[in-house]
Amino acid sequence: MGDGVRSPDAKSTLRVCALYPDLMNIYADRGNLLVLERRCAWRGIGFELSSCGLGEHFDAGAHDLFYLGGGQDRDQRLCAEDLIETKSAALHAAAARGAVVLGVCGGFQLLGHNYALGNEQIEGVGLLDVATVRGHGPRLIGNIAIELSPGASAGEEREGRVLAGFENHGGRTTLGERQEPLGRVLRGHGNDGCSGYEGARRGNTIGTYLHGPLLPKNAWFADWLVALALGVPEGELEPLDDGIEREAHLSALRAARV
Ligand code: GLN
Repeated sequence: MGDGVRSPDAKSTLRVCALYPDLMNIYADRGNLLVLERRCAWRGIGFELSSCGLGEHFDAGAHDLFYLGGGQDRDQRLCAEDLIETKSAALHAAAARGAVVLGVCGGFQLLGHNYALGNEQIEGVGLLDVATVRGHGPRLIGNIAIELSPGASAGEEREGRVLAGFENHGGRTTLGERQEPLGRVLRGHGNDGCSGYEGARRGNTIGTYLHGPLLPKNAWFADWLVALALGVPEGELEPLDDGIEREAHLSALRAARV
């Protein structure tokens, strides 16, 4: 796509599934869902939000975007077991047919292979080729800004787009050999505090450590996700009056001293 023509399978309603919204939701990650809902509503795009918690199953074909937020280690442990048992196969099937899967912080870690906490190994679903270790070092906390890797956002004109947010994680995440990061750290710690990489992206599966929440501070990224999930070119989304959103983005960048 890219010629402004709606693809035959483009959808007019964004169907979002929040995974474990009660347990994996720190730093106001719920605000991300609210932004998706509002930006669809302002454009007259339908929006359906379902949630899927412990012990529940979902239909792999019934959602366009899956959201898995951040969590404390103990909640992550609970969700990780359940994710493998009741949701992993459907999540892989959904990702394979192009659904967007967005994991933030603890959610990002669970989209990888595993999260090692001392002698304990919390298994992830392996949608991203990353592994996380909870080291003895201090938590990686603070305001962060990253520049998206070329190809990590839609179209040439998106190169160099910047995301601003807040990170607070004990886990250090490393990328597999061929795993692309989501972006490069401009300011902050990123995946492990030393590689300069932040997040990961494989197809439409995206993981990042940026809370804040992420989308209210980066409305352009919310639109990019909406377009990706709906299967429409981003330019086809009706422009919105984003004065306040732009100010929020700039303020988050200033907080990160970028
Ligand atoms: N518990 C994980 C860690 O500390 C994730 C934290 C979070 O989601 N903010 O690394």
